[in-house]
Amino acid sequence: MNLSTKLEQIKGVGPKTAEQLRLAGLLTVGDLLTFLPRRHEDYTGVVAIVDIQPGKATIKARCEKVQTRMVRRGLKLTSAVLSDETGKLNAVWFNQPYRTQQLAATDEEFYFSGEFEYNYGRYQLTNPSAEKATELPVQAERLVPVYRAIHGLKSQVVRKVLTELRPLMGMLPETLPESIVKEEHLMSRADAISTMHFPVRIEDVAAARERLAFEELFELLLASQLNKLENQKLAGYHMPFEVDTVKAFVAQLPFQLTAAQKRAAWDILQDFEKSTPMNRLLQGDVGSGKTVVAGLAARQAVSHGYQTALMAPTEILAIQHAATLEGLLAPFGITVGLLIGSVKGKARQTLYEQISDGAVDVVVGTHALIQDTVTFKQLGFVVIDEQHRFGVAQRQKLLSKSGTLPHLLAMTATPIPRSLALTVYGELDVSVLGERPANRLPIITKIISPVSAHTIYAHCDQEIAKGRQVYVVCSLIDDNPDNDIKSVQAEYKRLKNSIFGHRQIGLLHGKMKPSEKDQVMRDFKAQKYDILVSTTVVEVGVDVPNATVMIIENADQFGLSQLHQLRGRVGRSEHQSYCYLMMSSTNKPSQRLREIEKSNDGFYLAEVDMQLRGPGEIYGKAQHGALNLQIATLGDTQLIARAQKAAKRCTDTGMDLEALPDLAHRVQYYQRLTTLN
Ligand code: ADP
Ligand code: MG
Repeated sequence: MNLSTKLEQIKGVGPKTAEQLRLAGLLTVGDLLTFLPRRHEDYTGVVAIVDIQPGKATIKARCEKVQTRMVRRGLKLTSAVLSDETGKLNAVWFNQPYRTQQLAATDEEFYFSGEFEYNYGRYQLTNPSAEKATELPVQAERLVPVYRAIHGLKSQVVRKVLTELRPLMGMLPETLPESIVKEEHLMSRADAISTMHFPVRIEDVAAARERLAFEELFELLLASQLNKLENQKLAGYHMPFEVDTVKAFVAQLPFQLTAAQKRAAWDILQDFEKSTPMNRLLQGDVGSGKTVVAGLAARQAVSHGYQTALMAPTEILAIQHAATLEGLLAPFGITVGLLIGSVKGKARQTLYEQISDGAVDVVVGTHALIQDTVTFKQLGFVVIDEQHRFGVAQRQKLLSKSGTLPHLLAMTATPIPRSLALTVYGELDVSVLGERPANRLPIITKIISPVSAHTIYAHCDQEIAKGRQVYVVCSLIDDNPDNDIKSVQAEYKRLKNSIFGHRQIGLLHGKMKPSEKDQVMRDFKAQKYDILVSTTVVEVGVDVPNATVMIIENADQFGLSQLHQLRGRVGRSEHQSYCYLMMSSTNKPSQRLREIEKSNDGFYLAEVDMQLRGPGEIYGKAQHGALNLQIATLGDTQLIARAQKAAKRCTDTGMDLEALPDLAHRVQYYQRLTTLN
């Protein structure tokens, strides 16, 4: 038996088990050994029911009674009575109706582990895990690995087969350079993996995780270092700074650039002068004025005869940017084209031709830009707006449309800690817009209980009377009978037929045709509507400075960064703006809502969001997904810093990867992912 032995040849693995493992992508012994548990359930410290204390608790008990009922739409409550020799207690599960079958059919003993807390007027065990006592591995300490249930593959099956394979653990080769393992005081790979599958003490699991996470991050950061070295050898487009061009652009702006905008523009224009391609992230809170910075840079690129491409995540945003850039650049004889899905037939053909023969200088578009049919005459500058919405591959595809690597400016309103940015974007430079234009007042944000909604509408009416406009955002398009969440369709009708009968109301959602959406946005901007009832299609980037009120219905349904982005649709002019977070119920508002009510600072909120949700959720699934991190999290900034230093030591000393083929293989994979070209 060795690492490439097929699992079906292992004693105790019948055809059925082999098939289950195969469906989960596990074919060989090596596959299964490196299939790491998602987490460990801690069944150490089992207490008797008489001794239970509030907090995290584990008991060994039988289930006497269990039932599931529908409490209200969207909420199924399962409650059970659990008992051991010393007493009884209640357990509840929310929306886990399968617990009834799991527990009712047997009188076997289970380990239950969950939070023992005061809820609905009494103490109960909330959402405990439940593992049959007989199915847990026989281990004194009962620290149990839990595996991902791919296609229903059960943890206990994985555990059983792994027990057979345990003697092979020692065969797993070391994949990190020995010097790094030593210097960083890491567990060997074989020990780490063995500890993950057969843990004894929780401290050992922590050390094993650290080793495995370190390795994942090290690979990523080494790839990024190597790319940086290679990028330094690349030739970029040389675009010397032209004082007059830049001055003329700034002179025609209807406002003064902020100091931060000037600094960012200066960073970019200096990068344009270098002999290597720019790789820069422009980070600035919603409303900080990123677009005009990109416009200024595009002006300079076009002046040197290069085309600019700007990619945005939604059609609405692409249309808006095209109009903005047209306004900024047309006075200098620069032509701006718009390439989105709804530009079809002849018009699209013509646009393709204009892009490839250089008749269009600046092309703004959605993903449509990265299609193979789009060829540029000479693409010198690429801007990616709201870049966390795009995957690494999409960015690369756009960059590859130039013979030589073009300069890249990625823009985002979601602040990214530097350590994290390094892992996701390779070695990049960062400019920050840390201030908003001077004429802005902080947005006033309030959490509103459903019972006081009418006061808000009265206020909206006053704002409209003053000539301002209002957004009402709902998360659904149509009503859903399974919940009480408001939909744009119903809300639009309701507002029109009641309180706002005397006002003009527009409706916008993702199922409308692009041309209809475009028309509605235009009309809203032209103030043909006082109120726009919309889904989150207006979440990012939309800029209608005259709008001063944002009402978010069922605000508790949204994430923190989403709420901040939505709120960012107002507060874009000198007028005082308001954001109302409408609660679904009269329950206590969540921490999320209280934080957003308290703070207008996107950088602070991003920190909070990261603590509440973890970084993977925030910094773009598309990018995080490709990184394939099993153990490491991008929030572990200390480990990232360590891994980065270690990677740097390797490149500084010119380490030879050939001796470590596994490492070399994965580093190459990551190099392709984070490379610019
Ligand atoms: P974001 O950083 O969220 O992408 P935008 O680029 O959409 O922000 O700019 C927000 C609004 O602020 C736009 O209406 C823009 O014209 C305006 N703006 C940008 N810079 C300034 C400035 N320096 N002074 C006043 N208004 C500005
Ligand atoms: Mg923007």
